[in-house]
Amino acid sequence: MEENSLIQAANRIASTQGLVAFTGAGISEESGIPTFRGNGGLWDRYPPERFANMAGLLGEFFLRPKRVATFLQEILRSCLDAQPNPAHVALAQWEAQGILRAVLTQNIDTLHERAGCSKIIKLHGSIDCLRCTDCGFKQDLDATQMQRWVQVLSPDGIGRRQLWRALRKILSPCPYCGGRRRPDVVFFGDLLPPDAWAEAQQAASLCQILLVIGTSGLVRPAADLPLLAKKAGTILIEINPKPTPLTPLADLYLEGKASEVMKELVERVDSIRR
Ligand code: NAD
Ligand code: ZN
Repeated sequence: MEENSLIQAANRIASTQGLVAFTGAGISEESGIPTFRGNGGLWDRYPPERFANMAGLLGEFFLRPKRVATFLQEILRSCLDAQPNPAHVALAQWEAQGILRAVLTQNIDTLHERAGCSKIIKLHGSIDCLRCTDCGFKQDLDATQMQRWVQVLSPDGIGRRQLWRALRKILSPCPYCGGRRRPDVVFFGDLLPPDAWAEAQQAASLCQILLVIGTSGLVRPAADLPLLAKKAGTILIEINPKPTPLTPLADLYLEGKASEVMKELVERVDSIRR
């Protein structure tokens, strides 16, 4: 990581009350949650055309039920087992200090709230929530309920009929209208939740600094947020171990893993503000 860029980033962050963070799967990689892209990423094992959209998943359900159970169980278990890392904690600390206004996240893993952040705009939903497709009622689930899901989805010897039963247990009918429910997460081809998307666009275009952490910048429309910010004259700072399509737009690129760079930044911001 270039020392000069780090100093400049710390100076800018220390003197703002208008920081907004835009986070992707990379911020949670050091918490043990696999990213989609990259070596060992989820997509190496579960191709997105078959696993990241409803139609594909349905096809897999008929052809390879055991694989579907393994996929769902892996995602659930990795989110349940993960703990916030220093990058999530640093953002929560900056929120408490009045530096950070909001986190716009593409992640569904709940690690920002578990780190103590309260102003979170979730662009792709949340793993711990079910939504009724008829009346829109949303229900948050606790860790115990989700642990039960992990058990119900045990892929050992699971066939189509057992998987169907497991899914019916997990996706029980809506308590209000009896309608069908689904996880409140955005699959490929789904629209973003309109309120969250409107709030995120506003936050990105009104902030002074947009700190982009651990996103490939390839998933649209979320990836348009840094472009929107740039157009509005916002300073873009990017943290990522590898350059992305957003890097040429960034005013400062801090090469490295999220937790390592954020630890350095927090120390420097603290010493400037002292
Ligand atoms: P992505 O998987 O497409 O890309 C991950 C990015 O993170 C890459 O640019 C990579 O270089 C970077 N990265 C890897 N390790 C890092 C580290 N330690 N620190 C900082 N950066 C690191 O992720 P995306 O751009 O967020 O898009 C994937 C989509 O999948 C998102 O929409 C998200 O909803 C979803 N997703 C979420 C989770 C989660 O909730 N944790 C995990 C996987 C995928
Ligand atoms: Zn309902």
